[in-house]
Amino acid sequence: MKVTVSAIKADVGGIGGHTRPSDGLLDAVRKTVKNAGSLLLDHYIGYSGDDVHIIMSHTKGTDNSEIHALAWKAFEEGTRVAKSEGLYGAGQDLLKDSFSGNVKGMGPGVAELEFDERPNEAFTVLAADKTEPGAFNYPFYRLFVDALSNTGLIVNKSLAAGVKLNIMDVEEGKIAELELWQDKPVLEAALMYPGRYVISSVYTKAGEPIASLSTDRLHNIAGTYVGKDDPIAIVRTQKNFPATEELGSVFNNPHYVAGNTRGSHHMPLMPVKLNTAASIDFCIPIVEALVFSMHDGKFTGPFDGFSTPDWDYVRNIATQKALAMRSQGFVHPATLVPSELEYAEGYKAVIEGLHKKMKSMESSSKSSGNKKYEDPD
Ligand SMILES: [Mg+2]
Repeated sequence: MKVTVSAIKADVGGIGGHTRPSDGLLDAVRKTVKNAGSLLLDHYIGYSGDDVHIIMSHTKGTDNSEIHALAWKAFEEGTRVAKSEGLYGAGQDLLKDSFSGNVKGMGPGVAELEFDERPNEAFTVLAADKTEPGAFNYPFYRLFVDALSNTGLIVNKSLAAGVKLNIMDVEEGKIAELELWQDKPVLEAALMYPGRYVISSVYTKAGEPIASLSTDRLHNIAGTYVGKDDPIAIVRTQKNFPATEELGSVFNNPHYVAGNTRGSHHMPLMPVKLNTAASIDFCIPIVEALVFSMHDGKFTGPFDGFSTPDWDYVRNIATQKALAMRSQGFVHPATLVPSELEYAEGYKAVIEGLHKKMKSMESSSKSSGNKKYEDPD
């Protein structure tokens, strides 16, 4: 049976800031999706920080207008409640006034996979907040390229053969297909810059879909910066694909990603439990793992992937790394370079004060009466 799993997410409002959606907002989203009748085989709704995710199974294929319209309508209903409650950033990810057939390019993040369901289909949804699409570059590199992180790359025939990856240039809106192992250095050169090049999908050599990742950058859509585009990903696991625990473990070294407060800093990506609010300690970037089984399109789960005691230790490491970075305040690389700052306009206005006072070295030395420096004999 061919099944499509669609994970669509949006931030349509948070309590008192960019924390988490309200119960009323979530209820409105749930009610809308529940009333979809026979359109869906199953669904699950939760949140990661201030992002609400709708996970749906159906037989309509990817980029289906009915499925996307349902998600859009649910986020609109959530927005209506968010506005009535005075939530912060109500409707912030709904960038267009009316739906036009596909939520891609309209603000919400989308990851979708269509595949022949295995008898015991297993997949994990990774839902991040307070970061950027390229936040998954490093863990996915560990998963599909680095055998020191994933022994499956040696002992699993399908993974050892190498995978095909689509890399998106989020500045230009173009996609390149790379193939392991011959394109390894090219892949590494791309993944070095998560602000520009991001993995959008992964396939086996035989063409079986393994992973789909959301790749939109909101500021490219809106023209100006309206928020970090927190990524969501679907990854199929077991058999020809990475084991579920191989996927989980690539998040055990919290690496620095862009995002956080005002979308303008670098902080480590902390694996957290399902439905965790964003921290008000400078919005440490977070990622949740929703582990599902599926049969005939019906979900069992999600099991909370980062809920076991060992992840508390990893969370401690992330907290220490976050405090270490924050200890140097606004000085790079704690902050992003000016072109990547969410508040680039504000920064430009302030740095203009410096530019106005700038004089060429020659005229400033004359005006202050200083002699030009000369090398001593
Ligand atoms: Mg968010």
